[in-house]
Amino acid sequence: MAKIALFPGSFDPITLGHRDIIERALPLFDEILIAIGENNDKTYLFDLHQRVAWIEGVFAHEPKIRVVTYQGLTAAFAKENNIQFLLRGLRNPSDFEFEKSIAQANRQMESDLETVFLLTSARYSYISSSIVREVIRHGGDYKVFVPDSVRIA
Ligand code: ADP
Repeated sequence: MAKIALFPGSFDPITLGHRDIIERALPLFDEILIAIGENNDKTYLFDLHQRVAWIEGVFAHEPKIRVVTYQGLTAAFAKENNIQFLLRGLRNPSDFEFEKSIAQANRQMESDLETVFLLTSARYSYISSSIVREVIRHGGDYKVFVPDSVRIA
């Protein structure tokens, strides 16, 4: 059976940290679905189509990657699509604490769903989408934190 991983997130916007995790996970899986969750309670800086287009631009030449959007529970979406693995990145202890609870809750709901964690590369561990958004809002040089396909008109 093909090994398929779901990498869920907001990607508002995709950063070099996200790209690093995805690239390093490529040899582990047959396919990676990058899944942008649409949460009605959250407000985003960039609209969904823009976020999808940026990610598609980053991985345009990578046949093992697809970009999808979903609503509702990540674990339910994974089950509906016969996905066995969730992929998450860990930057620091607070990511770990947060991710541990989510992974355990997901496993309680979907016992076949295994969460795979990759540690961030040290050089990207300080990058978060929220910092990038702050830089963008104040007119700073966001380009050093994001892949080349992320450009704001
Ligand atoms: P969320 O809305 O779930 O916070 P994000 O888009 O911020 O989504 O992050 C999606 C995933 O990418 C998470 O597993 C997060 O830990 C990981 N991630 C975010 N930034 C980095 C980074 N700089 N290095 C490694 N992983 C990261």
